[in-house]
Amino acid sequence: MTAAGRFAPSPSGELHVGNLRTAVLAWLFARSTGRDFLLRIEDLDRARSGAEAVQLCDLEAIGITWDGPVVRQTSRHELYDDAIGRLTADGLTYECFCTRREIQEAPSAPHAPQGAYPGTCRHLSPAEREIRRASRPAAIRLKSGLSEWTVEDQLHGRYTGVVDDFVLRRNDGVTAYNLAVVVDDAAQGIDQVVRGEDLLPSSPRQAYLATLLGLPVPEYAHVPLVVNHDGARLAKRDGAVTLGDLAAVGISADYVRDLLLASLGLPVGPLESVVPAFRPGQLPRGPWVWTTPRGEMPSP
Ligand code: GLU
Repeated sequence: MTAAGRFAPSPSGELHVGNLRTAVLAWLFARSTGRDFLLRIEDLDRARSGAEAVQLCDLEAIGITWDGPVVRQTSRHELYDDAIGRLTADGLTYECFCTRREIQEAPSAPHAPQGAYPGTCRHLSPAEREIRRASRPAAIRLKSGLSEWTVEDQLHGRYTGVVDDFVLRRNDGVTAYNLAVVVDDAAQGIDQVVRGEDLLPSSPRQAYLATLLGLPVPEYAHVPLVVNHDGARLAKRDGAVTLGDLAAVGISADYVRDLLLASLGLPVGPLESVVPAFRPGQLPRGPWVWTTPRGEMPSP
């Protein structure tokens, strides 16, 4: 299997310029290091009918190319079940019956990091579990052996973050993001994970889980986000932020691509032509504030 990078959108709606900028970066990291580039649709949750087709079309419009067929997580349940089965056989999982509210209201364990699952269901007796099963379906949690883990990130350096007893399978039967992403990245030969900085705190959980499953830990690069004028992560409500919105006000996909490249301090033009100029160490480190352009600059 050739080493590969990837972009893994959730098909919950149209991609906005923040998502597109992350896709451009993931593509540049992969192509500038001779890697394949794979597309994976993370449709276990939040899938909106028709969204995937528009996302693929928009990625193509800004010049993103990918290798092999697009992979969809909903066709990969066996892989996820197999991984959870292996962890369970090793005594590394337990059933959890807590509601969100119970977790919020539970006193946190001493020295536990904020937001960590307090471990309520870890020590239930078989009899107690039996009683709980009758009233609620169980989620499956990882029985984590530690409280934090360190990853290396190309842009952030060494990053240490929380590892708690996180959910592997939700109580509605849906595989949790952290499990699916680790299983898929390894199964697809992805050894380079480039994605938005908001996912940096998830990477210690994922790297630890990969290690428990005997899977290689990919190299990480968590890239700066695009924000609105208030400094908040860009969202659909922030005006014209998708290629569709921008096309409606006369702004072409090529022009958006060039704006994204310029925001990264890169030369503009078709993505292929930018590969030789791409230097991860020279990328801007702060967020980029999006301002909807008034119109395209006239061509020189
Ligand atoms: N599907 C996730 C998202 O769209 C990205 C997951 C990842 O890159 O690991 O936010």
